[in-house]
Amino acid sequence: MKSIKVFAPATVANVSCGFDAMGFALESLGDQMVFTQTEDNGVKISKIEGANLPYDVDKNVVGVVAKQMLEDSNANFGLDIQIFKNFKPGSGLGSSAASASGTAFAVNTLLDNKYNKLELTQFAMQGEVTACGSAIADNVAACLYGGFILVRSYNPLDIVSIPTPGELIATVIHPQIEIKTADSRQVVPETIPVKTAVAQWANVGGLISGLHTKDFNLIGRSLVDYVAEPKRKELIPHFDKVKQSALNSGVLGVGISGSGPTIFALSKGKNIAHKVAKAMDEVYVNSGIGYNIYVSRISNKGVHLV
Ligand code: ADP
Repeated sequence: MKSIKVFAPATVANVSCGFDAMGFALESLGDQMVFTQTEDNGVKISKIEGANLPYDVDKNVVGVVAKQMLEDSNANFGLDIQIFKNFKPGSGLGSSAASASGTAFAVNTLLDNKYNKLELTQFAMQGEVTACGSAIADNVAACLYGGFILVRSYNPLDIVSIPTPGELIATVIHPQIEIKTADSRQVVPETIPVKTAVAQWANVGGLISGLHTKDFNLIGRSLVDYVAEPKRKELIPHFDKVKQSALNSGVLGVGISGSGPTIFALSKGKNIAHKVAKAMDEVYVNSGIGYNIYVSRISNKGVHLV
């Protein structure tokens, strides 16, 4: 009976212009989980540290994904799972996606890599149904593939890996306030003028081209969101101030991570990324709101064994 440990990275979904279609994984922030095979068929969560989450395997995404994969593969073993959370659920950094993707990857490893990455994404998306009510792919795909990804289509599911320049560094600030995903979905307009859509997809093209050609200036010019950010930013205290002070520090671009409240910034090189962290800190230090700031490279491998 085998036991394995995985690291599943936090992820930034949307990436400004890539609203609901793009995401990337962080290298140094993420959850760890230990999966131990058991002889009796069945899934049990025996430990959860770092967050208050359900042990019920039908309510925790880890249980949902593991059960589904063991059933689909007719596995002749069960699982004991320990979860160590290093960042908070509901932060906009893909907490449930890290758990779901880490589980899909780990179970697949114990099944001698029966499934490919696209199939693992589909299993992990079932975890997102449990967490937020819909089978969203951007966070789970970023977590499983690493780097930047594009969800080009849902039907059929088509995930495209985008090359990530090594000098690209993310700075993220997580203000510890609660934004309900339903609320942040509701403020996004249901329809947009064609003119706005054109501006948005032109920027997506620019961002993807900039990532391919390592054109940092183009990446920066393209990190603009005309669809969700103008409304969603109202839910995040001091968003404009954080954005402006990060831009003054030489960052390429700033946006909302997932549905917030986390704000992400992308910089060329560590020095600027740390300068941005300091600028963000100065905005929040006297705000009376608790917060965490992380500086990380972009993960080039996504979820992996440790
Ligand atoms: P965010 O993407 O904003 O970090 P999530 O979409 O991950 O937040 O939502 C977290 C929700 O998913 C919470 O309601 C939480 O109770 C539920 N959930 C169920 N299982 C897990 C898990 N293993 N890890 C994180 N959240 C989980």
